[in-house]
Amino acid sequence: MTQKIPTRIYLNEDEMPRYWYNLRADMKEKPDPILHPGTLKPVVNADMEPIFCKEAVKQELDDNTKLIPIPEGIQNFYRAYRPAALIRAYYLEKELGTPAEIYYKFEGTNTSGSHKLNSAGPQTFYAKEEGLKSLTTETGAGQWGTALAMACAFYGLDLTVYMVKVSSEQKPYRKAVMETYGAKVIPSPSNTTESGRKILAADPNTGGSLGCAISEAVEAAIKTDKCRYVLGSVLNHVLLHQSVIGLETKIALDKYNIKPDIIIGCAGGGSNVGGLIAPFMGEKLAGKSNTRFIAVEPASCPSFTRGRYAYDFADTAQTTPLLRMYTLGCGFIPSANHAGGLRYHGMSPILSKLYHDGHLEARSEIQTDVFAAAIRFMKTEGILPAPESSHAIKAAIDEALECKKTGEKKVILFGLSGTGYFDLSAYMSYNAKTLSDQVPTDEDLQKGFASIPNIPQNK
Ligand SMILES: *Cc1c(COP(=O)(O)O)cnc(C)c1O
Repeated sequence: MTQKIPTRIYLNEDEMPRYWYNLRADMKEKPDPILHPGTLKPVVNADMEPIFCKEAVKQELDDNTKLIPIPEGIQNFYRAYRPAALIRAYYLEKELGTPAEIYYKFEGTNTSGSHKLNSAGPQTFYAKEEGLKSLTTETGAGQWGTALAMACAFYGLDLTVYMVKVSSEQKPYRKAVMETYGAKVIPSPSNTTESGRKILAADPNTGGSLGCAISEAVEAAIKTDKCRYVLGSVLNHVLLHQSVIGLETKIALDKYNIKPDIIIGCAGGGSNVGGLIAPFMGEKLAGKSNTRFIAVEPASCPSFTRGRYAYDFADTAQTTPLLRMYTLGCGFIPSANHAGGLRYHGMSPILSKLYHDGHLEARSEIQTDVFAAAIRFMKTEGILPAPESSHAIKAAIDEALECKKTGEKKVILFGLSGTGYFDLSAYMSYNAKTLSDQVPTDEDLQKGFASIPNIPQNK
């Protein structure tokens, strides 16, 4: 007998994950080690501890522990807004006329509006446990800054957010939420740091970038007592925390014995798609499934699809350790695109390795197509999606339409990483037909590639 699958599959509190899943432990081919930018040797904990909390560093460098317990203090934080619903897209399926089953995991129901709270909580919890007083970070579109402002308010830490200048101008309400939670927000580049002053001297009219803002936040953390820097994506420990998305999804799907054939997520630095796919990728690497995994990025910032696999800095001022990743070059400044959360030059080293070895697929989409997909989705499913998340929607719709052609009844799962309530100016441009598609030329990309460090490891 087939059991009807509910539109929303929820978990009870006692079914929620008590461990994060560290996918690296199940990768036979590990991501390449993080290198110290001075010595070009693999970093050790002590190299990273002046910048990051100790526990974050420990998790960052741990390639072997498969299950890492979620401390009670973080489980309590998660309970305030999790589990996130896993939704069967019955209405979208019907509108598309596809034989495919489509599911999505919706991470946008908390006030910050995205999955980023899943790592903001743990990173702030550890900082508090270690006796730190304040944190610094960067934010692009504002989702990460908002998430961290919420976590800092919850655990009682001070926070300074360097917000990419164009975003702070485009999104005054994001800034207002962060400030209301008690964070200090500084548009970046600013004259409050040496790296900010340098970037401003080179280009006084720059609208900033995530890379610039990271440089400022790292510098401020190093120069402030009992202060550390936290990053919202890209790094291994962030993907570890985000595995809560995939773990919850898997527990929910297993209740109905649903096995996804295709899993799709949007990719900026890779944390939401990395977290969603983690437990399913673990099964695939163990030869237990044949699931396809697809990361979707904007055509304006195509790290996977047009980038180089090389050691590069995580920031523009070239101060961070070196990560081997798909990158457009730390000097690449993407054109204005409304999916602000996807405007980053690099990509998670874990996902980069999986992509390089052929376990993960990637594709890029132009923003007008992405908004068209977003609107098709919101008209049927009722949820206003973030422009970032809509990249995943676009690919999920395409895969479902492919099934319509072939008659295959595939199970498609995608990550709906956030809501679009702070992105209404983007929807206004789309409605007014003034949204343009800015795709970098090969020449533009060459300029970015020239900023990739010229070290023996990149030869
Ligand atoms: C930040 C953000 C992203 C991109 O970041 P990843 O680390 O790639 O997940 C995607 N969607 C939303 C809603 C975001 O806020």
